[in-house]
Amino acid sequence: MRPVDSHCHLDFENFDEDRDEVIGRAKDVLDFVVNAGSNFEHNEKSLELESETDGFVVANLGLHPTYTESFDEIDRIKKQIRENDPVAIGEIGLDHHHVTESESRDEQEKVFREMLDLAEELGKPVVLHTRDAEKRTVEILGEYDLKDVMLHCFNGAPELAEEAVEKGYFIGVTTQVLYSNRVQEIVDRIGLEKLLLETDSPFLYRGERNEPVNVKESAEKIAEIKETNYEKVVEASTVNARKIFR
Ligand SMILES: [Zn+2]
Repeated sequence: MRPVDSHCHLDFENFDEDRDEVIGRAKDVLDFVVNAGSNFEHNEKSLELESETDGFVVANLGLHPTYTESFDEIDRIKKQIRENDPVAIGEIGLDHHHVTESESRDEQEKVFREMLDLAEELGKPVVLHTRDAEKRTVEILGEYDLKDVMLHCFNGAPELAEEAVEKGYFIGVTTQVLYSNRVQEIVDRIGLEKLLLETDSPFLYRGERNEPVNVKESAEKIAEIKETNYEKVVEASTVNARKIFR
């Protein structure tokens, strides 16, 4: 089985010079790649990538919690989601790292809840950004009945990761696992049955531009942490990714 990059941003301008080459390298070794949407315009680009690659790049459509200047386009984005019927809604969520004022956090939570309402209504999985707001996110999720939940780039407390897995949520492990003790500890605590590989490209690769093929390196590292082999990590995470995104 081939690995999947369950979360990246290939529509970002970091890839404007060589996007086709990056996708070409991914096609050589990966099963598929999931591209998260950040606002209306990025969602459009994500959809273009999906059609240009005949679905090798899977589009998620969302409204990113740090794109506060895009919050007023939420109605347009909800319409875009209804019209394009993406396989999952993302990325959405809460970010208490970048958004620090309580009024802005309230607005962020309101937007997040509207997107969760839509996901619940449409029966779509959700892909969540939870930076420095992991606990609050999991609390809010408890109020909803959602198809599948991916906690993308999870960096919360390892105990909370375990709690999330018990609730049936999937944990996105980024290439941070190559250098972050916290992510390594999270991987150590959770089972492969709820683990997803992701790069969050272009971010999170030791300061260099990240790209989807680097999930292979993560799978090797995870195999080392969990004292298993590379194939088992790839198989488990790909089965999980197909369940949510295919
Ligand atoms: Zn992302």
